[in-house]
Amino acid sequence: MSGIDLDTPLQGTLGKKAADALAAKLDLHTVGDLVRHYPRRYVDRGKLTDIAGLELGEHATVVAQVHTATLRTMRARRGQLLAVVIRDERGRELSCTFFAGHKLQHVIKPGMRALFSGKVSIFNRKLQLTHPEFEPLEEDENIRPFVSVYPAADKLPSWDIARCVRIVLDQLDDPTDPLPAQIRRAEGLPELGRALRRIHLPETEADHHAARARLVWDEAMGVQLALAVRRRRAVERPAAASPVRAGGLLDAFDAALPFALTAGQQAVGAEIAADLAREHPMNRLVQGDVGAGKTVVALRAMLQVVDGGRQAAMLAPTEVLAAQHARSLRALLGPLGRAGELDSAERATKVTLLTGSLPTAARRQALLDAQSGAAGIVVGTHALIQDTVGFADLGLVVVDEQHRFGVEQRDALRGRGERTPHLLVMTATPIPRTVAMTVYGDLEVSALRELPRGRSPIATTVVPAGEKPAWLERVWKRIREEVAEGHQVYIVCPRVGGENGKGASAADLEDADLIDLQDPDIGADSDDGGQRRPPLAVLDVAPGLAEGPLQGLRVGILHGKLPPDEKDTVMRAFEAGEIDVLVATTVVEVGVDVPNATAMVILDADRFGLSQLHQLRGRVGRGSAAGVCLLVTDVPSGTTARERLDAVAGTTDGFELARLDLELRREGDVLGAMQSGRRSGLRLLSLLRHEKIISAARGYATEIVDRDPDLAEHPGLALLVDEVVGEEQAEYLDKV
Ligand code: ADP
Ligand code: MG
Repeated sequence: MSGIDLDTPLQGTLGKKAADALAAKLDLHTVGDLVRHYPRRYVDRGKLTDIAGLELGEHATVVAQVHTATLRTMRARRGQLLAVVIRDERGRELSCTFFAGHKLQHVIKPGMRALFSGKVSIFNRKLQLTHPEFEPLEEDENIRPFVSVYPAADKLPSWDIARCVRIVLDQLDDPTDPLPAQIRRAEGLPELGRALRRIHLPETEADHHAARARLVWDEAMGVQLALAVRRRRAVERPAAASPVRAGGLLDAFDAALPFALTAGQQAVGAEIAADLAREHPMNRLVQGDVGAGKTVVALRAMLQVVDGGRQAAMLAPTEVLAAQHARSLRALLGPLGRAGELDSAERATKVTLLTGSLPTAARRQALLDAQSGAAGIVVGTHALIQDTVGFADLGLVVVDEQHRFGVEQRDALRGRGERTPHLLVMTATPIPRTVAMTVYGDLEVSALRELPRGRSPIATTVVPAGEKPAWLERVWKRIREEVAEGHQVYIVCPRVGGENGKGASAADLEDADLIDLQDPDIGADSDDGGQRRPPLAVLDVAPGLAEGPLQGLRVGILHGKLPPDEKDTVMRAFEAGEIDVLVATTVVEVGVDVPNATAMVILDADRFGLSQLHQLRGRVGRGSAAGVCLLVTDVPSGTTARERLDAVAGTTDGFELARLDLELRREGDVLGAMQSGRRSGLRLLSLLRHEKIISAARGYATEIVDRDPDLAEHPGLALLVDEVVGEEQAEYLDKV
């Protein structure tokens, strides 16, 4: 008997009509595609589906009982309609209208139980299924207790898919199991063939749980193997070793440092120092909450490389940040960073800023400094450094605020030279463990968990401007008080504004780039069908405040649409205390460091993601004075949006907020960021629920790749990688 396997096309296996429909509507082409189209859920034949649980707009499949079925004559066309009302256990109703009523009246009768399927909508204030389809439930005792409900489409209802799946499973030979038997045994996992059958046709609840667990494992293994291969290939490349050199620039810097490093800074610093001393490139992510002191850690790494006679590049996502980094590196280095200047120290190096907005002459000089090696440290934006800069000998690339880049971009930054520079990635967004193990799984991860002492606490308060307008008055008064005490204040708005006077489009590109991967699209989650006013804009708010409640204060504006040199001027003026109140977009989110800024007001705070709010407020309380953050919102209490804001106000633990953020957003977006092009091979894996599996799979994957770097002895696993991360990614791995 010739069975079929996972690669067999559905054309020829199923009837042409069914195969065409599966291809056209669900993009399923092979037997493998179809058996990997898992049920969304299972309904108990004996129970009616809870109608209250349905969501508007969803294509739903329910078990229901026909309550009434009434034949109606259509006025506009010939023929009759059958108006059917179906009910659940608790008497909640859903209406469905079928054409060809005269035929169906003999089939759909009151009391009948059936599966009904269609798009949930509201008509005349009643819930209905549009384009409904139905399938009577057989009353056979021998029949399976569960009905598998599939993600379905119009004219391709769940039961038709189920029928196709059954046909295919009947002929399918058990596929070779890619998971080594030893892992299966250790983890108590069923074989692949069995799992595939059980997930579609479970006899018991335990059946589909076990099947699902097994299939989750496949996905976790696919991802972890891909990453293990990447890590392995990356460390095999040659790099220049830069061991610590006694009596060098790093020693001089440490000796001059006005504070003691925290225990975390020391520990992470030691890990990095050891990495840099190897002849293979470092690939390390340092995560530390805002203010954890990452810059010092990065600078010490750069100095170690400079001591080895090589250069370091520091990349920031925007020009404002690049300029800010250059300034703070120079400030930290003091005379040690002023090589070539009169007051430089003996072993000094040079910090060169390279941005697109430099005047031509300055830019030429900066390029020359990089090329000649005169600049030990070059700071710039990614675009610039990637495209135009030649280095004498680039030994280390530091990427700030990494979470905005994908895996490929990470590699592109390092070029294809003979020797690969070491890579240090810094992120201020705390990353939940599972995300670190997947999205950043090609990097070693270090964390700075404690903040340097002397950091002032930030008190965060939600200001319900919609319910208590008087509170807003208090906000402006508070700002005046802060300024009267000699402090400075940020006011953050979700939007720049100024498009044709009012424009409702999203913030400009640069700001859009800054939207955290960890955050939902600003405003996209508003559930009022676009009824809300557009988000507040910098260009409207700033003049309104300057002429109104903040009259007499020096109000500045900062956003991504300003020409770069103007941005820089504004930031400098704010740093110098020449601006009292800075009205800005999220450009102030990362890296900006003005210790004298003690208060931040975030307007329309509900339009930002949790992690983003946390990042933003990290900009205040960086000096000795206590910081305050006011989250202004007009969403009413009792809503999810308000709960999110209360969560931010309730904790300063960035890791906790990152976890909450992950829970609140569609995590598919996180995993999706790992995949390019074609349909995702990740269907069941959840970064929230499968931490144990991901962690165990990582262990196995590392072991396997250590022994079999190209997976040559594990063809099944190589295929799994292909299936899960996509061929493009898998091919890409080959090129690394
Ligand atoms: P982030 O991790 O947000 O980049 P920074 O590196 O900008 O944090 O550090 C924030 C501030 O704390 C800076 O002014 C920095 O000089 C200071 N800082 C860093 N490490 C320490 C330390 N060990 N003790 C005291 N202050 C420190
Ligand atoms: Mg920083």
